[in-house]
Amino acid sequence: MSLSQLARSINESPTLKLNETAALLREKGEPVIHLGGGEPKSKAPMDAILSCTALLNTGDIKYSPADGIPALKKAIIRYTEEHYERKVAPENVIASSGAKQSIMVMLHAILDPKDEVVFPAPYWVSYPEMVKLAGGVPVAVKPKDGTFEPTIEDIAEVVGSYTKAIILNSPNNPSGVVYSKALIAQIVEFCEKKNLYLIMDDTYNRLIFDGQTPSNCYEYAKDLTESSKLVVINCVSKMYAMTGFRLGWAVANKELVRAMTNIQSQETSGPATPSQWAAVGALNGIQSSIESLRMTLENNRNVMVARLSAIPGVKVTKPGGTFYCFPDFSAYYKDSQKLSQFLLDKVRVVTVPGKEFGFEGHLRVSYCGALGEVKQGIERIQWALDPNSPNELFLGGRKLVRDWA
Ligand code: PMP
Repeated sequence: MSLSQLARSINESPTLKLNETAALLREKGEPVIHLGGGEPKSKAPMDAILSCTALLNTGDIKYSPADGIPALKKAIIRYTEEHYERKVAPENVIASSGAKQSIMVMLHAILDPKDEVVFPAPYWVSYPEMVKLAGGVPVAVKPKDGTFEPTIEDIAEVVGSYTKAIILNSPNNPSGVVYSKALIAQIVEFCEKKNLYLIMDDTYNRLIFDGQTPSNCYEYAKDLTESSKLVVINCVSKMYAMTGFRLGWAVANKELVRAMTNIQSQETSGPATPSQWAAVGALNGIQSSIESLRMTLENNRNVMVARLSAIPGVKVTKPGGTFYCFPDFSAYYKDSQKLSQFLLDKVRVVTVPGKEFGFEGHLRVSYCGALGEVKQGIERIQWALDPNSPNELFLGGRKLVRDWA
């Protein structure tokens, strides 16, 4: 078969693949615990469902403008005003089929071949592949101090004449780390000085813990005119538990939004109208589901961190947000893919290898599922790894005997 060079250079999304693996094993009756997931288990808000079904009931489901329906843009403008204290015009907003598509069309709109896009590691698995898809070159920056938060010096060191953009994702998938406001301020200033695009992926911005307040990049920007190269990405996927609706958006300068809209209009047209109306319902409706999800996640985080920290040799950085934790298992296995496979084979726990996020020796474990699953999942991991744990474990009615060192 003759596939393009591009097709051959793009890897499958490891997280989506793991979802398939977990579903297949569950179908076979295997007692799988899925700590690899990337979506809250709660239901979409009722206001989203009502708004979506109101459209469906008319039977009149038609194309939308390529950049989104006016009602959704209005709701996004209101959201931006409330959460970023920033007034934007409809021409500054584009709605897409998920934050993923907003990022993708934005990269297509700004990158020429060989342009580089810089982002800190650990990074969301899709950034490198998306940059490659848009013809660019991904440049990951590993913090020198061994933490999950880079310094401005770490970033400045890799920025050169080919650099077109920096992507920041805070709170971060996979580490859960909330970058300090000081770092965000420094990067906003740095990008303005160097005339670089700064893409703030705020997908998890509302899901933060310990009384922290979400960061607002606009606070640090000197240039808030139409020449600003700041792009803010959001979506209904995580905060409203609406991953399946596929609805995200970008707020940026009008010229960039126009270019993104042209690309989106040729690639896919506007997002599905039922999803747009669902997002209108979510954004304009009762907001209590976000706080209740946030509180559940904070509690799950506490339990997961306590249990992981009890495994000898495992190093845990307490996540300040998201629903992921990124512990260091290198005391047991240096190769995260081998470790992840071992845990799946031996104790049927799904995890995502750190290698996929540009960080070996770690695993991403999610606490977006039921608390019972979080507890049992970590218990099984401990049993599989810690030689001091009892020799036997009951797994779905089956007795397992640890016959490995
Ligand atoms: N950015 C980050 C950091 C994410 O983790 C995800 C989803 N896993 C997305 C963007 C994409 O969100 P959506 O599902 O809205 O495309």
